[in-house]
Amino acid sequence: DNLIDQIAAGEVVERPGSVVKELVENSLDAGAGRVEVQIERGGKQRIRIADDGDGIPPEELELALRRHATSKLTGLEELERIASLGFRGEALPSIAAVSRLTLASRTAEAELGHQLRCDGGALGAPEPVAHPPGTTVTVDDLFYNTPGRRKFLRTERTELYHVQEALRRLALSRFDVGFSLVHQGRRLWSVPRAESETERHERLAELLGRAFADHALAVELEGAGLQLRGWLGLPTAARRQGDLQYLFVNGRLVRDRGAAHGIRQAYSDCLYRDHYPAYVLFLEMDPARVDVNVHPMKHEVRFRDGRTVHDFLARRIADALATAEP
Ligand code: ADP
Ligand code: MG
Repeated sequence: DNLIDQIAAGEVVERPGSVVKELVENSLDAGAGRVEVQIERGGKQRIRIADDGDGIPPEELELALRRHATSKLTGLEELERIASLGFRGEALPSIAAVSRLTLASRTAEAELGHQLRCDGGALGAPEPVAHPPGTTVTVDDLFYNTPGRRKFLRTERTELYHVQEALRRLALSRFDVGFSLVHQGRRLWSVPRAESETERHERLAELLGRAFADHALAVELEGAGLQLRGWLGLPTAARRQGDLQYLFVNGRLVRDRGAAHGIRQAYSDCLYRDHYPAYVLFLEMDPARVDVNVHPMKHEVRFRDGRTVHDFLARRIADALATAEP
């Protein structure tokens, strides 16, 4: 069974950055308003995610570390319209199989928290612990028992970069949640919940840099049953932004060639044709028009009508960029 978990871990857990992604998604699923990420040595030594979400009752702690024990899928129809980010019940057991994991949690009703340790998949017994309402997951010594995998981890710096990228995507997808990142006791980011335009701008600057934030064109477009809002990078902010391309569909970061092409075409149609597109865009549409379950780890989606999405992005973004031309 542990072997199955270790194999499954290969699918879900590639490096500290993917652990952060899975754990923070769980925090968001649990309705957290604030998520604190603390890592040591690029996450190779320790990854700790603390949230103020719903928490887990003591009798369910063990279940949370068992395979396919998701609490988030109650009916088949739900597969069609998945509202929560996680739905497979694999992340926690997979991570626990290849690390020393501690799951500590307390629900709002409980007077005391409980924690459960899991060492390379071997479960301990739940024990009481002082804990504020919410959940803290600590992942130590990732891949300590799978040396082959551990060997593939890169330098602390590179792993830290991937952790930051994973958290950046999540922080961009949820402006209503506060995030912080501490590495080796040093605070790298602290982005409070952002409500006003100014606060949103601040978060953008903190996560993506002032160069992008201060020169980006804010857009809000609608048509063909699609709603698009976000920021388009303008040439003054052009340098060093080749990989600053974030498209969220119904709150989920996606990579879609058709959509990316539409956006690129919009840029190439205007005065900014020499500018490599940089953008943070949120596309909202009827969930029935998009299939998110192509591969849960690869950020792929399938639009039922890709042509409509492509053309909407190409035309409307071109129009928006035209209004910003000098
Ligand atoms: P999934 O997210 O696909 O359900 P996971 O393995 O990621 O599967 O998590 C298993 C279960 O553990 C979740 O369904 C949830 O009930 C519980 N859980 C995990 N993390 C948290 C958290 N931060 N807060 C509350 N519950 C959590
Ligand atoms: Mg999950």
